Amino acid sequence: MQILMYHSISEAASPMSLSPAAFSRQMAWLRQNGWQSLTLRTAMETDRPPRRAVVLTFDDGFADAYLTAWPILREHGMTATVFLVTDQVGQVASWPEARPVAPLLDWGQIKEMASAGIEFGSHTATHLDVRTASDDEIYRELVQSKATLEEQLGEEVVSFAYPYGYFRTVLPELLREAGYRYAVLAGGYRDNRGCLDAMRLSRTPVWGRDSLFTFQAKVRGWLAYRHYTEKAAVEVRWQCKELRRRWGRGR
Ligand SMILES: [Zn+2]
Repeated sequence: MQILMYHSISEAASPMSLSPAAFSRQMAWLRQNGWQSLTLRTAMETDRPPRRAVVLTFDDGFADAYLTAWPILREHGMTATVFLVTDQVGQVASWPEARPVAPLLDWGQIKEMASAGIEFGSHTATHLDVRTASDDEIYRELVQSKATLEEQLGEEVVSFAYPYGYFRTVLPELLREAGYRYAVLAGGYRDNRGCLDAMRLSRTPVWGRDSLFTFQAKVRGWLAYRHYTEKAAVEVRWQCKELRRRWGRGR
C-alpha cells in the first residue's frame, strides 16, 4: 500500500505546495477508479484492507489542510492523517526551512477534523532536527507532543512522521518507549507491502509539479523500489511476517 506525502494544498510557490485544482483532480481520479483512502492507523491495524487502498498524509499541519484540502477530501469521500508540530499549533510555521511559511491549523480546526475521522499524529513539538538533538531532547519532544495531542483530542495518538525525514537508528526505540506504534519517513517510495518496518514506513511524496499521470503511477506503486537490501530484510523479518498475515500476499 502506498502512503502518499503531502504538505500544503495551496498556490504557494514551493515544491511542497500542490494547487487545489491539481489536488482535486487527484482525489477525483482516486474515487472514479475505485480507490479508497485509509488513515495510517487504520491501514496498519486492518487485517484485509481493500486492494485499491492508499494512505494520504499531510506533514506540518498547515491551515490549508482544513480550509482547502478537507473540503476536497470530503467531496470525494477520502480521509487522511495529519502530522502536527504541537508547539506551533495556531501559529505561522517558523521552524528553520519551513516551506511554505504559512499559517498552521488551530485546535478548533483540528478537533473538528478529528471528530470527522481525520487522524492526527506527531511531527514533534518544534519540528526538531534529530541530527543535532540529544536523545533526551528527542525523547522529551516525543512524549510531550503525544501528551499535548492526546489531551486536546481525548484519544490515543500512535502515529509519527520524522521531521525533515531525518532518521537515526536510535529513533524507533525512543518512539516505542514514548508509546508510538507507527512512524513514516519522508520518502523511500516503497509500497510497504511484502516487507515492512512499522517504525520506518516508506512514503511517496506528491510534489506540486506532478502531473496526473505521475500521481497515478505513484498510487499504483510503479515508482516503488521493489526490493529491500539483505541487511534491511533481516532487520525487519518479523514485521514482514506480521504484515503478510494481516494484509495477505500480493497486495
Ligand atoms: Zn515537516
